[in-house]
Amino acid sequence: MTPVTTFAGRTVAVFGLGRSGLATCRALLAGGATVVAGDDTAHSRETAAASGAAVKDLAAADWSSFAALVLAPGVPLTHPAPHWTVNMARAAGVEVIGDIELFCRQRWATAPDAPFVAITGTNGKSTTTALLTHILRSAGRDAQMGGNIGTAILELEPPAAQRVHVIEMSSFQIELTPSLAPSIGVLLNISPDHLDRHGTMQRYAALKARLVERARRTVIGQDDRWSRDVTERLRLGGGDVELVSTREAVSQGWYGLGTELFANAAGVRGAFADLAGVGALRGRHNIQNALAASACALALGLSVGEVRAALRTFPGLPHRLEEIGRLGRTLFINDSKATNADSTATALTAFAGDVFWILGGRAKEGGISDLAPLFARIARAYLIGEASEVFAATLSGKVAFERCDTLAVALARAARDAAASAAAEPVVLLSPACASYDQYPNFEVRGDHFRGLVAALPGIKLRRGEGP
Ligand code: ADP
Repeated sequence: MTPVTTFAGRTVAVFGLGRSGLATCRALLAGGATVVAGDDTAHSRETAAASGAAVKDLAAADWSSFAALVLAPGVPLTHPAPHWTVNMARAAGVEVIGDIELFCRQRWATAPDAPFVAITGTNGKSTTTALLTHILRSAGRDAQMGGNIGTAILELEPPAAQRVHVIEMSSFQIELTPSLAPSIGVLLNISPDHLDRHGTMQRYAALKARLVERARRTVIGQDDRWSRDVTERLRLGGGDVELVSTREAVSQGWYGLGTELFANAAGVRGAFADLAGVGALRGRHNIQNALAASACALALGLSVGEVRAALRTFPGLPHRLEEIGRLGRTLFINDSKATNADSTATALTAFAGDVFWILGGRAKEGGISDLAPLFARIARAYLIGEASEVFAATLSGKVAFERCDTLAVALARAARDAAASAAAEPVVLLSPACASYDQYPNFEVRGDHFRGLVAALPGIKLRRGEGP
């Protein structure tokens, strides 16, 4: 845990008592602050009270006594409307911040040179964060991973000179972190997302840009125009930017050609690694993630050899093009995290053809029409869930498909057809292009169900060797 001493002797309000909110309460208490906590659910209030926080009805509290309001990132700050706690804080002149802001201030106060890598982007945050952590740990470094991924930042060990904090940040967290100034800031990409919470694309892009604006070292993806605009602005202001491109060679930064990774930065010149055959980093999008993670690792002093070796042993993250196993020639892939057509496009692009594609659930706006250029890669499609009829209409006349209703039926049929096909390496791919809520509580449960169904196939060889 990172005790927060910068509020010692003062009173801090914490609203939103999920995992990060509870960690915030504990860290503030450990650092000598008084904590007044609030939440709309009784269970969270009870857990907070058990940790020593004073749980109060914040609506009736004396806001003039608070030094700050620490808000959970899921609570609206501006859009669609500020949460009532935000309005009360503003009326009382109380600053509104997040848990990562507390970490930043603690770092400045106690270990300003401690390495702190902050990673954002519309897509690829978790993969890049986990990959960089894996590379650092493989080289024997103390890497603390958290933020928007897994562990709340204040649950991690405190910042220190020999310890690297690798922190994934969502736009909501950036918004609540006014003093964000990481030693390395990584902006992977920007595409429309969460506009209900950020209002406009300009506002969303400006928030993402804040992560890199005050970073000591800056790494920015060049594959979309919003990120290129951010790069240009920083350069016009005299900033140094290391570019990451999966499309063309760059003279200052990192680029991928095919599966090969190249550098023109950090004292490294030319090809430095090849991702061919690395199952956990399939697809062009993962080239971007791998380049960004390598850029950070090399900047943190790792050798090219250490980075190259660790890229090959990355186990990958569950539900993101996760290789589950093989049955004969057939490869089974769980991409349950693909809850929209864009994510599914990255999955389909990662395979040249012979894909037995399981899709469906609760459709997003626009459905799967944008995937039409990739339909030639599909051997057959298996429809599940609410979206079946809408998707059937899009596929009709272009891709052979059948309605399966459930994942169990879809997998059985896809496995059967893949085994009977003449393809050298048929792929059974769950990449739903849909939310899961019509049949599952979330995409993780959907992916776990798929993994369980695959693991039960007679003769399956699971990737991690834990066959049934
Ligand atoms: P995030 O944490 O930003 O949601 P993840 O690393 O969890 O991103 O990846 C989620 C999905 O986003 C992946 O399954 C893949 O479809 C897509 N994706 C991952 N990395 C990238 C990238 N660099 N560019 C575009 N899409 C990506």
